[in-house]
Amino acid sequence: MRILVVEDEKKVASFLQKGLREEGYAVDVAHDGDDGLVKALVNDYDLLVLDVMLPGRSGIEIVRELRSKEKATPVLMLTARDAEQDVVLGLNAGADDYLTKPFGFDELLARVRALLRRGGAARPDRLVYDDVQLDRVEHAAVRRGERLDLTPKEFQLLEFFMVSPEKVVRRTELLEKVWDLTFDPMSNVVDVHVGHLRRKLGRSGDDPLLHTVRGVGYVLRKGGPA
Ligand code: CA
Repeated sequence: MRILVVEDEKKVASFLQKGLREEGYAVDVAHDGDDGLVKALVNDYDLLVLDVMLPGRSGIEIVRELRSKEKATPVLMLTARDAEQDVVLGLNAGADDYLTKPFGFDELLARVRALLRRGGAARPDRLVYDDVQLDRVEHAAVRRGERLDLTPKEFQLLEFFMVSPEKVVRRTELLEKVWDLTFDPMSNVVDVHVGHLRRKLGRSGDDPLLHTVRGVGYVLRKGGPA
């Protein structure tokens, strides 16, 4: 899951980036409205966290612009405490939810997860493949009744694979959707995380399920890469 945070207060922006990364999300940051809009249009994010008061374009203008271009990315708006009007304008412009500053990280995280789960059948609360179950609400993965002890990044990876099992996932796709812009594409961090996930999956069953497709990427498939 990849998130864009548009926030001009650098402290708040880096607090959000750090916290969300610790939860395993890929997080990009923009410090003004114009950069935010460009990033939101160019990249395929799963969620936007938009401050309303920004240099350049406001958060509300960004949502309006995105919706006019048929970009349906969920938007969580950050509003000032005394700016009720912004909430109304933002929701009318197409924002999905809002949070009033100051807020605690746990509250933000709860809203982020709720927005990421939305989308009905396209985003079911529970994913199942073979004997593996992944619960997006509880944030837990289980194989053969045994809970997998996954890091947040490993959980994100498994979720990504379980959305489209038996489909070969290219390495570049993982870089785009599970890691962010600051990531060095030449490093082997993807392989390392996939390797950890594969070992943890294998521990609760004979078949590690997660296979390398040489020169291409990976596939989650029972019985080998086929
Ligand atoms: Ca601001």
